[in-house]
Amino acid sequence: MSNIVAIVGRPNVGKSTLFNRLLERREAIVDSTAGVTRDRHYGKSDWNGVDFTVIDTGGYDVGTDDIFEQEIRKQVQLAVDEATSIIFMVNVEEGLTDTDQEIFELLRKSNKPVYLVVNKVDSSKEELPATEFYQLGVEKYFTLSSATGSGTGELLDQVVSDF
Ligand code: GDP
Ligand code: MG
Repeated sequence: MSNIVAIVGRPNVGKSTLFNRLLERREAIVDSTAGVTRDRHYGKSDWNGVDFTVIDTGGYDVGTDDIFEQEIRKQVQLAVDEATSIIFMVNVEEGLTDTDQEIFELLRKSNKPVYLVVNKVDSSKEELPATEFYQLGVEKYFTLSSATGSGTGELLDQVVSDF
């Protein structure tokens, strides 16, 4: 049984940035054609020798939060049905939003492991604001910077060890 990790969250939180980071080593080898990776939503990755598939969600992303709630629900539900683990990404710059809460309600119902990832924690000064997300009550809480890669190791150690 293969392990499938879905990255879900509102537009612009940094899902695709993390997705590309998780894939970059392999994609560099496999896809020599420029632009090939840009539109991909599935990719293979591995951590500590453990292989897994990553799903990037949010083909609807338009770079703003001005999207239909219904569309978010559909995308999240599709990813959740397919995934064995879920990375729920939020953005420290914007703080906790109503849409975050709605997405989290859907995820909680899935009974699959959910990793809350507070992204854009690029330096230690964002650690304190990131604690706002504790109120969701998620056990598996991580802060990271998809842009720099800092924090991704701790996240992947946990995700892979729960497979
Ligand atoms: P998506 O819509 O959730 O897929 O988000 P993207 O991956 O497209 O990222 C949205 C924007 O946030 C882009 O401008 C990224 O460069 C930026 N971004 C992503 N991750 C980080 C991060 O860790 N720190 C900062 N400062 N910016 C980030
Ligand atoms: Mg995206």
